[in-house]
Amino acid sequence: TKHVPFSSPFLRDSGFINGEWTRGEATKTFDVLNPATGEVLASLPDMGAADTRKAIDAAYAAQPEWAARPARERSAILRKWFDLMVANADELAAILTAEMGKPFPEARGEILYAAAYIEWYAEEAKRIYGETIPAPSNDKRMIVIKQPVGVVGTITPWNFPAAMITRKIAPALAVGCTVVSKPAEQTPLSAIALAVLAEQAGIPAGVFNVIVGEDGPAIGKELCSNDKVRKISFTGSTEVGRILMRQCADQIKKVSLELGGNAPFIVFDDADLDAAVEGAIASKYRNAGQTCVCANRLYVQSGVYDAFAAKLAAKVEAMSVGDGFEAGVTIGPLIDAQGLAKVEDHVSDALSKGARVLTGGKRIEGAGTFFTPTVLTGVARGMKVAREETFGPVAPLFRFDTVEEVIQQANDTEFGLAAYFFAGDLKKVWKVAEALEYGMVGINTGLMSTETAPFGGVKQSGHGREGSRHGVDDYLEMKYLCIGNL
Ligand code: ADP
Repeated sequence: TKHVPFSSPFLRDSGFINGEWTRGEATKTFDVLNPATGEVLASLPDMGAADTRKAIDAAYAAQPEWAARPARERSAILRKWFDLMVANADELAAILTAEMGKPFPEARGEILYAAAYIEWYAEEAKRIYGETIPAPSNDKRMIVIKQPVGVVGTITPWNFPAAMITRKIAPALAVGCTVVSKPAEQTPLSAIALAVLAEQAGIPAGVFNVIVGEDGPAIGKELCSNDKVRKISFTGSTEVGRILMRQCADQIKKVSLELGGNAPFIVFDDADLDAAVEGAIASKYRNAGQTCVCANRLYVQSGVYDAFAAKLAAKVEAMSVGDGFEAGVTIGPLIDAQGLAKVEDHVSDALSKGARVLTGGKRIEGAGTFFTPTVLTGVARGMKVAREETFGPVAPLFRFDTVEEVIQQANDTEFGLAAYFFAGDLKKVWKVAEALEYGMVGINTGLMSTETAPFGGVKQSGHGREGSRHGVDDYLEMKYLCIGNL
């Protein structure tokens, strides 16, 4: 592989512990690749458990002073961090596209979206209210105060290298927690850039630490078993979420988990078909289908099945696949060879069981891990696309007849993150919205993520919510104070 080092004033070739850029005790390095070209962008120190422990010690030492600051001081620092991200959005987006592959305009959108969480929680920092409770007897007074949980370990995935981090760190820092952050090994450069700006914004040494390394299990184990860490916040696969929850059981450590999804996307006969197609494009093909809220199973009612399929296929065919830095590209590469292999496997499994390709269906030969955006018809239960998250630009279209039938099929999964449906009749809208067993439901829209709303899942899609005023709850403890003998 060719070395084409990526340069930016916001990059360092090290981790960040206690306010210092350091290679720690790493004895080897790991490479960060550009998935569009296969080139090596950077070689970073492969940090492990020992450096994680040091970062935890630093976070633990820094936490009391950080929590003791007036909320408006923490707020002002976070606000400055937000301003720096916005001012440098182009640079940050370039780092993101280089290491992750999403088209540059989408990467820029992610940077602004990531920054919005910091802005939001800079504001919420000042609004951590307690409660007074009427006492059952006159000689008592009862009060609830909210306090930070303490040191938080965050583990995040590669599909949103910036936003998945700020969603966790912004509320944590806002309420007085300190953080040890482990970004995905595929996309650590965005995390490094965030830390560079955090330092410039005046976030004190030890408050935000970044461990870069390839050995997720070793770093994760230290975070889960070190008793100075009070909480783990994880976004990633359900499989790894389960491991982390198990590891946290020994110390009854708190966990927030944003795990896999298997989103149904339902189009009823009375839907606005053009809006439904637009929604499907946004929900299915954003980030080349690599988001946990991407439509995974598209259910289309019989009366509009053929018309919807034709309209969707026409739009999908017009998409432009390529390097995210090229103008006009709307679909970048998949993250790596493994991701590409999974998408290929899901498509060939569906075809072998009777599905048909309306458009796409193939990998693109050459450097980079590209797959043509695909629409499949004649899809049925029993195919992998019906059960597993494909995490790629493939829309499988299932046909259905009745409302009851589609609700049953939509809920027939262990996942419960996002669901979408398009319909006209108000009665049906309420009925379906209430019946879907999901943490989030998009109604007549394919896009619903925003820092102002609570993001999270039910069932095996996770615990906790990120964003909105509720997002701070995951980082706060309630303490009940009872004053007696008055
Ligand atoms: P994805 O399929 O999106 O790569 P993963 O759940 O495998 O999702 O990875 C998400 C994050 O979890 C990454 O930062 C990865 O390094 C980390 N990770 C993977 N395995 C473990 C583990 N056993 N313990 C802790 N973290 C892990």
